[in-house]
Amino acid sequence: MQSERDLALKNNLAEIKSASKRFQSGYSRIENFRYPEGVQLAVNFEIHFDAQLRRRVRNEPIMQMTRGEFGGRVGIWRLMDLFDTYGIKATIFTPGRICELYPESLKEAVKRGHEVGNHMWEHRVPTEPELEKDHLRKATTAVEELCGKRPVGSRSRHKLSSLKSEGYIYVSRDDEPLDDVPYYLYDNKGNCMLNFPFHFVLDDAMHYYSGFFESGIAGQRPSDPSKVYDIWLSAFRQLYKMGRHMTICLHNFVSGRAFRVAMLERLIIEMKKMPRVWFPTYEEMARYCLDRFPPRLN
Ligand SMILES: [Zn+2]
Repeated sequence: MQSERDLALKNNLAEIKSASKRFQSGYSRIENFRYPEGVQLAVNFEIHFDAQLRRRVRNEPIMQMTRGEFGGRVGIWRLMDLFDTYGIKATIFTPGRICELYPESLKEAVKRGHEVGNHMWEHRVPTEPELEKDHLRKATTAVEELCGKRPVGSRSRHKLSSLKSEGYIYVSRDDEPLDDVPYYLYDNKGNCMLNFPFHFVLDDAMHYYSGFFESGIAGQRPSDPSKVYDIWLSAFRQLYKMGRHMTICLHNFVSGRAFRVAMLERLIIEMKKMPRVWFPTYEEMARYCLDRFPPRLN
């Protein structure tokens, strides 16, 4: 006879299955993920070039917008200089409209060998299907025309079908952290794409930005960089030991501040003391995964 607990579990599973059908998505893990010979851990540094756009979409007060502007005028340059000093190539996920607002910094990023990826058109994905495609098309073309290279990766919740038709090879979603190495996402139409998972504890905004994601100021206060240093360094050590994947998400208006750049420098120096750490762009890492562990679904 079925116990009440068994029955509840069965109902729960049925509910989860139907929810997954509703979202029309699934995932497929990369079994036995391994790095290229001689690599123990890959660390991806990503910069979100949100500047004032996200603030504008959310209709925030003018002082918040100015805070965002710091990222485009100052922060992006400081972060690029830091990465260049240590020979690290970063991935800059940029909204398409940044191409109009801060074209010089993006052109310079490409010149210095950093990857420029997509981060929506104006930091939102419209729900209207035609507009959603239109935003992605506009954002992709804007980066291609300015940087001379079409972006191949997107940090967004754009549909897999839209991303595929614009030639994207990978996505990085903040809502699907199902593993700590890349895996494949698929939808019910057979579209499949490599996804780089993302963990909020490795996101600077979670530690430094008060009021993030509607949390009140009282609920979140800017952390001391040395505390963030300890958290990120311990994450690095453990991921290194386990041979998993590390991604550090920086916003130029958040981490571009002088004292936070100083902390990042200390962190990079520590990371560089370890042998066999790989600092690829997302594109490099994506091409490795697609080649070495192609999707099993299509
Ligand atoms: Zn963003």
